This record gives sequence, structure tokens and C-alpha cells, in this order.
Amino acid sequence: MSTITCKAAVCWGPDEPFKIEQIQVDPPRFGEVRLKIICSSLCHTDVLRWLGIPQPLFPRVLGHEGVGVVESVGDGVTNIKVGDTVIPTFIGECGDCPNCASGKTNLCRTHPFSFSGLMPDGTSRMSAAGGRSLYHLFSCSTFSEYAVVSVHYVAKVDPGLPPLVASLLSCGFTTGFGAVWREAKVEAGSSVAVFGLGGVGIGVCR
Ligand SMILES: [Zn+2]
Ligand SMILES: [Zn+2]
Repeated sequence: MSTITCKAAVCWGPDEPFKIEQIQVDPPRFGEVRLKIICSSLCHTDVLRWLGIPQPLFPRVLGHEGVGVVESVGDGVTNIKVGDTVIPTFIGECGDCPNCASGKTNLCRTHPFSFSGLMPDGTSRMSAAGGRSLYHLFSCSTFSEYAVVSVHYVAKVDPGLPPLVASLLSCGFTTGFGAVWREAKVEAGSSVAVFGLGGVGIGVCR
């Protein structure tokens, strides 16, 4: 496996316009996969990170809603293979930690939400011209033609799904769907107010 040169939307500072640039994407390391991103959507959380909220991490490749095809896999990856269609999940699920075992939350303690802008080992897999390291967003960075993700933060999806639909499954839709149908457990016949019909609101209405 070799480093891939591809295009990405790079943000160099808070509130600065994205620049479409050639970047280098490293091969996947142990327990990682490299994806060819085929569709990415925009979430409000991307906008917050673009503004440097809650912490300014730049230069950065944003994007955390997307769908891709596995281009290569690192050592130790057994459940995902080249050619699989996957979405980044940015919260893992080990199935064994107290939170996963509780059945009450998906905030896994073993593979948690990451705010560092780096891979779980504390390093980046992307660099700009001149070798400048680029921050990821969460466990991925979907505003790039290729992205490296820990295998604990991807989920296989039906490759027959339209890419735009699959992309929305990775954040917006499932956030709304899970809030109502898994957390609040809304019952048939209830009256529910939905403020806003973006990806999350439509996920609520199903
Ligand atoms: Zn999101
Ligand atoms: Zn867990």
C-alpha cells in the first residue's frame, strides 16, 4: 500500500473559505481502513468546527457524514474487506464495556467520541503540500476523496443504497431517529413537536 495523493477541501483557519487542494493520505495502519469517499453531506457540526468551536484545530479537513468504499485495509482488520461499502460512525461500539452492555446508551467507553482531530493513536493520516499535518474531524474526514478511519468507527451498509441516503445515515438521520425511537421511546398516538426539518428533524419524523 502506498500513500495516495488526492483532492480535499482544506480549511486553514476559522471562518476561512475551504481550499480544494492536493493532499497526501497515508496507508492504513494496524486496525485501520482507507476509504474512497463516494458521497459526503454537510452537518451543522461541520459548520461549528469550521468556526473553531469548541476548539480551533487547523489546518483541518472537515466532514463526518459520508459513505465510502474500502480501498485498502491495515493489518489486524478481519471484519471489513476491500470493496465493502461503509459509513463512518465516529462513536464505536465494543459491545463489552459497561455502557455498551447497559443497552441504555451507545457512548462506548472503549471507542469513544474523539475531539482531538487525530486518529486514536494520536497521529494524523493526512498532510498538505510541504508535509504539513492536517487535523481530521472526529474519527474521519469526509471532505476528502480518500480518508483513513479506525475499523472500530465504520459500519457496513447495503451497497445498493443511494449514496446520498447512505451518507445521511452516518449522522443526521440516525441522530433524530435514535433520539425519538430509541431514547424517548415515543408511543403511537403521541403529539410531538419537531423544531426544524433538516436531516435530524426528518429522522425524527421517519
Ligand atoms: Zn453531524
Ligand atoms: Zn463499548
